Amino acid sequence: MENGTIKKKAAPRRKAPARPKSLYSQDELKEIFRRFSIQRPEPKGELEHVNPFTLVVAVALSAQATDAGVNKATRALFKVADTPEKMLALGEEKVRDYIKTIGLYRNKAKNVIALGQMLVDRFGGEVPRTREELVMLPGVGRKTANVVLSMAFGEATLAVDTHIFRIANRLRLAPGKTPDEVEDRLIRIIPDEYLYHAHHWLILHGRYCCKARRPECEHCIIADLCKSPEKTCDVPAPLVELPPQLFGPTP
Ligand code: SF4
Repeated sequence: MENGTIKKKAAPRRKAPARPKSLYSQDELKEIFRRFSIQRPEPKGELEHVNPFTLVVAVALSAQATDAGVNKATRALFKVADTPEKMLALGEEKVRDYIKTIGLYRNKAKNVIALGQMLVDRFGGEVPRTREELVMLPGVGRKTANVVLSMAFGEATLAVDTHIFRIANRLRLAPGKTPDEVEDRLIRIIPDEYLYHAHHWLILHGRYCCKARRPECEHCIIADLCKSPEKTCDVPAPLVELPPQLFGPTP
């Protein structure tokens, strides 16, 4: 006690948990993304859309649904309603009919109408171009906002979906417990020149090669670089760390 006042004891500082790092060197990361860029020079998302509005709707509908399933439903929907105004004129009940093959369609139909309403009321019928504004829209979270910023407005963002989350952790590329953690780490380790397409490369790699149940390592173009303990082929991974004295002087 000092001058009649009780001095508060400072709370003990908690040690921040060690952040798991990428197992890959900068050169290895460059090589991984260089190969993706050769394999798919112009990767495209597989969700069909005709403008930023239909893209927002398609991405919002794709939560817990496959792109193919969403495309099947939206092909007919977007023919009659490709703007917020037309979607509002169509009304919730009819939207529900168009998308009833998609999981959680009742809730999603409600969101599509609420989304159209907000675009008309607050944004003059246009899809906004900032993440802060996009996530204000009903049914639009950070992942959807990132996809829209990248695909509609050409921004280098990285929306972590189930495939990217799996690959980042499985390969020890950017391990993290949540999509936000993985996004943050991937953005920091992916070489700048590859960031714009990285989102699609990783999704397509996860969808067609590094699959959830059994990765098809025997067909994988980065098998020799991959350090995943789940790798199923016998292409050896590079050693994680090689002491510099193993190498002779560079010419
Ligand atoms: S080698 Fe196998 S585990 Fe590694 S990235 Fe390729 S498919 Fe995935």
